[in-house]
Formats: sequence, C-alpha cells, structure tokens
Amino acid sequence: METQKPRNAGGAPAHSRAVAGTVGAAPEGLGQDTAASVGTAAIPATGVAHEESGSRIYPAFDAHHPPEKALIDDCVHCGFCLPTCPTYVLWGEEMDSPRGRIYLMNEAVEGEPLTDAMVRHWDLCLGCLACVTACPSGVQYEKLLEATRAQVERRYPRGRMDRLFRALIFALFPYPRRLRVLTAPLGPYQRYGVSGILRRAGLLQRLPASLRAMEALMPDLITSVARRAIPTVTPAQGVQRARVGVLEGCVQRAFFGQVNAATVRVLAAEGCEVVSPRGQGCCGALSIHSGREEEGMRFARRTIDVFEAAQLEYVVVNSAGCGAAMKEYGYLLRDDPAYARRATNFSARVRDVSEFVQEIGPVAPRQPLPLTVAYHDACHLAHGQGIRQQPRQGLLAIPGVTVREIEESEICCGSAGVYNLVEPEPAAALGDRKARNVHATGAELLVASNPGCTLQIHASLARSGIRLPMAHPIEVLDASIRGESAESFLRRKGGAAQIVGAFN
Ligand code: SF4
Ligand code: SF4
Repeated sequence: METQKPRNAGGAPAHSRAVAGTVGAAPEGLGQDTAASVGTAAIPATGVAHEESGSRIYPAFDAHHPPEKALIDDCVHCGFCLPTCPTYVLWGEEMDSPRGRIYLMNEAVEGEPLTDAMVRHWDLCLGCLACVTACPSGVQYEKLLEATRAQVERRYPRGRMDRLFRALIFALFPYPRRLRVLTAPLGPYQRYGVSGILRRAGLLQRLPASLRAMEALMPDLITSVARRAIPTVTPAQGVQRARVGVLEGCVQRAFFGQVNAATVRVLAAEGCEVVSPRGQGCCGALSIHSGREEEGMRFARRTIDVFEAAQLEYVVVNSAGCGAAMKEYGYLLRDDPAYARRATNFSARVRDVSEFVQEIGPVAPRQPLPLTVAYHDACHLAHGQGIRQQPRQGLLAIPGVTVREIEESEICCGSAGVYNLVEPEPAAALGDRKARNVHATGAELLVASNPGCTLQIHASLARSGIRLPMAHPIEVLDASIRGESAESFLRRKGGAAQIVGAFN
C-alpha cells in the first residue's frame, strides 16, 4: 500500500518562514543555548499544519528523566520490529521505524541538538507498542518514548496552529462534561444530514485536515448514550466475591455510557459489589501518552485519591488506553514521595474488564447469542498490557458466538490516543487499511475494547462505504447474560451490516 508521507502544508521550506526563539528551560548547570540557526536536519519530515521552528536546541534533552541510555543500548538493531511498525509499513523509512527512532534518541542523548526532523519522526510514532511485542531483546520502547515526548513537550517550540490545536484537544477531551456540552449542537447536525450536504457542496473539504478528521471521527450522537447515572454502589448478585471500582473514563462516559452500564451489570452478575466513586475524573492517559507529564501526574494523583478512599480490592477499566496508563502509575509517580508507594499499590489492583472476568472465573450463565464477530486487538490492550486471549475467551464462552480473526491484527488502526487528530493523513491511511481487513472477515459485528479504536474504525468503514455495527466485548457478554436476542442486539448497535456506498 502506498501512502504519501505528510508533507509541509505550504510547500516552501518551512524553516524559511520559521522564527527560532529561546526555548527549552534547561535545569541549572546544563547548557541553555538554543541556537537560531536554520534547520539543517538530514531528513526533512514535516507534516500538514506542522510548521518547523528552525531551532537547534542544545542540549536536546534536559536533566529531568531523559530517555535512559541503558534502555537505548538494549536495542541491538536487529530490525525484527520493523514489519510490525505501522509507519515503517506505510513509508519504509528507517527513521520512521522503532530502530530509527531509538537511533535518534541516542543521537540526542549523546549531544546532538534537538531538530525539527527528529521531533517529526517521534511525532509520527503512534505509540502503538507493536515494536515492544515484536522485540526479542525486550527493549522498553514505551519508557523511551514517554521520556522523549515529555522532553519534546517541555523544550520544543511547536508552530502556532499546532500549539493551539493541541491546547484545544487537551482542554476538551479529559473533561467529559465539556465534551458533551460542546458536541451537543452537533446532534441536529447529524440528524439532518448536514455533513452530507456540506460534503456535496465541497465545503467540508475546505476545512483544515485536523478539523476534517475531527468531524469524521465524531461519534454517532443520535444513538450514543450520554453518561448514565451509574449508581455509586451496585450490589453483587448472589454471593459477593469481590468489591471492585469502575473507571468511567472520559470519551467512554461522554459518548459510550452504554459500555459503562454493561460493565457494571456484568460485574454485578459475576458476584461483585461495584463502586463508581464520585469525583473520579480523567485517568491522565491522553496526557501521559502525549508527553504532558505534569498534567498526567495531576490526573493520576487525583484518580488514586478517589479510588483509594473507596477501599476496593480491584479497579476495573473498560478502555484499553486508560488501563495501560493506570497500570504504569507506579513508574509515573516514582519520584513523588507522597505517592510513589501508593501508586505502585494502586497499579497492582488495576485490571482490564475482560482480564478481570477471566481471572475471577465466570459464574453467571451465558444464554445463546448467535453472532459472527471480528475481534479487534486494541494496541494498548494487546501490546501495552499483553491481553489478547481473555477477550476472545470471554466471547467464545457465549454459546453461538464465532470469532473471526482480522488480518494484520498487530498493526494499529491509526487511532492511538490523539494521533488521528494531530496526524490525520497517516491515521486515515491506517484506518482504511484496517477497514479493508475488517470487511474481509465477513463478520456481522466488530468488537473492540477501546473507544478510540471504535470511533476510528467506524469512520474508516464509513469512508469505504461500509456500515458495520460495533460493540465492546463486555456489551456482547452483557447481552448474553441478559438473554437478549442477536437481532435485538444488532439493532441496538446500529443495524445489520451493509454496504452503503462504493466499497474501495
Ligand atoms: S510504537 Fe508503534 S509506531 Fe511507534 S515505533 Fe513502535 S511500532 Fe512504530
Ligand atoms: S527495538 Fe528490538 S526488535 Fe527493534 S531493532 Fe531494536 S532490538 Fe531489534
């Protein structure tokens, strides 16, 4: 598959219109120089709406947790990770592979300045962690990437539009109430088909790529269920086996309230007292994975405080990205004397919902639900948490369910947190690739454990002229436990699969 690597929007060398400033507040004792020379990076790599700063920042990294040299040196340059790296698959460029990105981290650690091209290659990484799964040497790329991204966010002067767009994303997405309020007027927009009218008039195409991506990724606000008042405490059915908390999430709470409701019902049916602690907010996953370290730590501390107070045996999460971040709180807060130990204890109690149901052993009777489903491995579940079998086991334990595997399941769908908003072109290319593979399964339902993946694949399928109902695995389990019919469930999830346009 050939996909153009995102280019500079204006066509002219970006450094010709760049203004270099003094950036990167280096801690005392470290060099503070930021030279205002034009970019001389060997590998120009700029994307749409990504102006280059033209800066060469010395030193590339400050002293606050730069990527660890010992972790960098674990990479033996074997290249086993390359075929599973989505950006390497798209462009075949070494510097857009895990090995290339680690090479650039090493350059920076060893004294090369931070340049536009370096930042661009790191920005284009989806953080999907397929390279972690593939690496025979156990390279902890997730730690290297998180450390690098935090340095970039502190030290690199992004272009004005990029900065503003990122500020908008992070003022919105971690706050479900804001999300719901701001997207409320879009209900009529969808109901009356305004999107199609604007598209046919050629007006949508005039929007910047990032806003077009946002429009395409909008959840179906007509059928989506807003935050349902999940009770603070839901009693266990039958003998109580555990007391667990549920994270309601941000996008999940704002647009997929039905997934949270199903999670509570299934856990209660499996003998758990389920607590949804009031005052819970964003877990910080989006911030942590984007290098916004301080913000991520603030969200993490608050999450720990709120769930600790509820005195739970486990904290159950139904969003892959959130679970992956929460299992790493111990590492994130390792320098914080007030939270380091508490964070490690907290992380040890976190479970993905499919993982948890298998761990305690299912007891609620499953009713037949004759469905052929394609199961999509969310990266932060499969690669980030090593959870592949449990969701499949949960589905296969339902009489009548057939699970079809998706080709190239290890390749990311392009969602990757905020990636499909800030890097819409490669995200769309990966989404279309995933949509083709999903369609090829012939399944009547797509099942995924992450709201970001659901939105991304839904948008990609729609672009390809396919309508396919989608669900979280816990919703399928819930329908089976409640004895819902397959027809009723599919209707509730948007109707039977169909080709509604020219499949491409
Ligand atoms: S995290 Fe994903 S996109 Fe980034 S280097 Fe690894 S495989 Fe490639
Ligand atoms: S990250 Fe792992 S798989 Fe990739 S080149 Fe380095 S050692 Fe090999």
